[in-house]
Amino acid sequence: MAFDLHIHSNYSDGLCSPSVLVDLGKKQGLTGLALTDHDTLSGLEEFRAAGEEAGVIAIPGVEMTTQYQGEELHILGYQVDYNHGGLRRRLEKVIDTRIERAKEILNKLQRAGVDLCWDDLEKVCRNTRGRYIGRPHIYLALKEKGIIGEDPERAGFRYYLGPEGVAYVPHKELPTLEALDLISKAGGLPVLAHPGRLENLRMLKALKGNGLAGIEVFYPAHSPEVRVELLRIADQLDLFPTGGSDFHGTEGTAQMGAATVERRFIEALL
Ligand code: AMP
Ligand code: MN
Ligand code: MN
Ligand code: MN
Repeated sequence: MAFDLHIHSNYSDGLCSPSVLVDLGKKQGLTGLALTDHDTLSGLEEFRAAGEEAGVIAIPGVEMTTQYQGEELHILGYQVDYNHGGLRRRLEKVIDTRIERAKEILNKLQRAGVDLCWDDLEKVCRNTRGRYIGRPHIYLALKEKGIIGEDPERAGFRYYLGPEGVAYVPHKELPTLEALDLISKAGGLPVLAHPGRLENLRMLKALKGNGLAGIEVFYPAHSPEVRVELLRIADQLDLFPTGGSDFHGTEGTAQMGAATVERRFIEALL
């Protein structure tokens, strides 16, 4: 009865279609999956239909990139109505802002002497369905142009695109509290993604007071110690624990099912 509640498709920065994700999940013997593409609901109808056909529980989700007091928090929204007008419109605006941000990143790269243009980026984005664009697309374009090659110093994502990189542009679009509100209005349950990445969890009480329902406890990068600590905090604040792999289908990242959550933890979601 294992569920992987954190996976990405080619509607955001994953490589597989929603249907292929369902097939993979079924092959792995998973009971259920949640598709949680970044800032888009566009893959969810295909995902639902594929789940129904394969007999895999397919939970609609989204992972929203949000800002809270200068920090980037990723908020997962589960069981959202993916036809909800308010949520859809807001996410369309987020994607507009992502496109503007990609142009800013490109400008910064060009000012740093990197020969990459919008056409190069569009070529890479042809494999993505919908309008989503993120740093992984820019990374791929840099690779395809041979700009990121053998030099190990420059091979990493961080060299150009990380917070200390020459072309870093932070997100500035969506306040966390607005995301919590939007997810609730769309009938969903908001969950804080990969809290193990954060310096501290002092914000949890305030988020809980604004509708946060759960935290992601089971996650590939969370050590057993972190997991135990997060379970304790979840219990203490009455947040339900969730889990998932953050599967993208890309090289060097976690496989589907690398972290899962048992059914008994997520009854509130089902
Ligand atoms: P963005 O939302 O455009 O800032 O892009 C963030 C995405 O980049 C994440 O969802 C990951 O898929 C990917 N990512 C972040 N950090 C790294 C990294 N160090 N190496 C490879 N991919 C990364
Ligand atoms: Mn991603
Ligand atoms: Mn995330
Ligand atoms: Mn993710």
